[in-house]
Amino acid sequence: MLDSNIQDWREAAQVISPEGRMFIDGTYLDAESGKTFDNVNPATGEITCQIAEGGTGDIDRAVAVARRAFDSGVWSKMSPSDRGARLVRFADLIESHTRELALLETLDMGKPISDALSTDLPLSHSCLRWYGQAIDKIYDEIAPTPGSAVSLMRRAPLGVVGAVVPWNFPLMMAAWKIAPILAAGNSVVLKPAEQSSMSAIRIAALAVEAGIPEGVLNVVPGMGETAGRALGLHMDVDCIAFTGSTAVGKLFMQYSGQSNLKRVGLECGGKSPNIIFADAPDVDAAAEAAAWGIFYNQGEVCNAGSRVLVEESIAEQVLEKIVTTGRAMRVGDPLDPETQIGAIVDKTQTDRVLGYIESGRSQGARLVSGGGQPDAGGCFVEPTVFADVSPDMRIAKEEIFGPVLSVLTFKDEAEAIKIANDTIYGLAAGVWTGDLNRTFRVSEALHAGVVWVNCFDHGHISSPFGGFKQSGFGRDKSLHAIDKYTDIKTTWINLG
Ligand code: NAD
Repeated sequence: MLDSNIQDWREAAQVISPEGRMFIDGTYLDAESGKTFDNVNPATGEITCQIAEGGTGDIDRAVAVARRAFDSGVWSKMSPSDRGARLVRFADLIESHTRELALLETLDMGKPISDALSTDLPLSHSCLRWYGQAIDKIYDEIAPTPGSAVSLMRRAPLGVVGAVVPWNFPLMMAAWKIAPILAAGNSVVLKPAEQSSMSAIRIAALAVEAGIPEGVLNVVPGMGETAGRALGLHMDVDCIAFTGSTAVGKLFMQYSGQSNLKRVGLECGGKSPNIIFADAPDVDAAAEAAAWGIFYNQGEVCNAGSRVLVEESIAEQVLEKIVTTGRAMRVGDPLDPETQIGAIVDKTQTDRVLGYIESGRSQGARLVSGGGQPDAGGCFVEPTVFADVSPDMRIAKEEIFGPVLSVLTFKDEAEAIKIANDTIYGLAAGVWTGDLNRTFRVSEALHAGVVWVNCFDHGHISSPFGGFKQSGFGRDKSLHAIDKYTDIKTTWINLG
């Protein structure tokens, strides 16, 4: 698989025939309105398939089916071991379709096929497998009440959960949601991003094949403003599991208040600082990791280290290493296994990224590298580095979600922390230092849900991921994710 060459992948892309219909109650269906929209490959501008444009009626139908499945107990009351075994089978089926699903991801949103194979697919099926294996090992609690009563505290599934996900890691973001949602016994209506619906639609049938009963996992593609909004406002949806921008996250809070006070978990945007101190154990390694920390996945990563903060005395050394690392990255056809930087998801996002590059120039930052579009056609942007960035510039404040790095300098630790925390976001941060005391001091002082020390963007399904401040609340991954999709139910039994 990994040794397939560009020609193999191009041929596979020619013959693949993606499913674009919704999946409700175990069946692929057209939208009630019959409407579809073009799914465009951002690397070529070609239309890969038509996607059903789900609307309010389709969301109503999917929610009703999910509710019926939940109330029937066919999944919600299945023993945790049986549920877990079926989730593990689901994971295995996804793994056995790795090549097909990786190709769908690449055609959908432009990421390099080698990244889809090495990251998106393994991290998706291992997530489902982990929750499948974990769910029958979680015990409920009995409270230390006086002897005249027993108080049982049990985790109860919520019911119907709406999962609304973005396009940057389409399958993986969906897996982070649906694995703990399903493991806890809930039913799901998944709305993928309109830019990247194909893998979510495809795996729905694999779920049924794995033994997850029909109606438990439904997928309704469509626009955010219609299908996403309808899910957010639905009176019979108990919880929204959202990953996406902070602006849309705020809308889901409003939808909840305007409807049934459904629970909301938000994984939103970021502007993560990556702080390199002069006492870093290996300054060049830190700089190289900083380059990958922003350019990986075309910079379309919520926790991208989009602000590198570097101590003045090593600023030139770090900048040079970042620039040489970025220039060596191979930008091009995402179907080429040698490609390291693929296409930006669509024209709108490409224009947005180019607009930020223009704003960096016009606000006086120094463009050190990149800044343009390689001569590849399609939605490509070069890895771009700005130096002499000040904290008040737009490129230092706003989430760009593209391969654009802002390098800022600091004089001392206090200034580094001040600049790092001067943001509405709090998703992640990096610290590079060889001083153990500083490790503790700085990681304590940073307002971020995840702090990496002498590494960047490390993770494992066992460790929670999520933000502080306007990066959202609630955690994906780890057993903590189960908290979002269950309520504690107390049963008080009088023994007197
Ligand atoms: P987005 O907020 O535009 O869209 C996310 C989802 O919300 C999509 O499914 C979209 O259809 C839906 N949506 C859009 N408008 C809506 C509306 N008015 N009502 C209801 N639903 C609506 O985000 P995006 O552009 O798809 O993804 C990029 C964003 O996602 C970035 O901000 C990034 O930081 C964030 N993200 C966060 C994490 C995390 O774990 N914190 C992970 C990945 C991406």
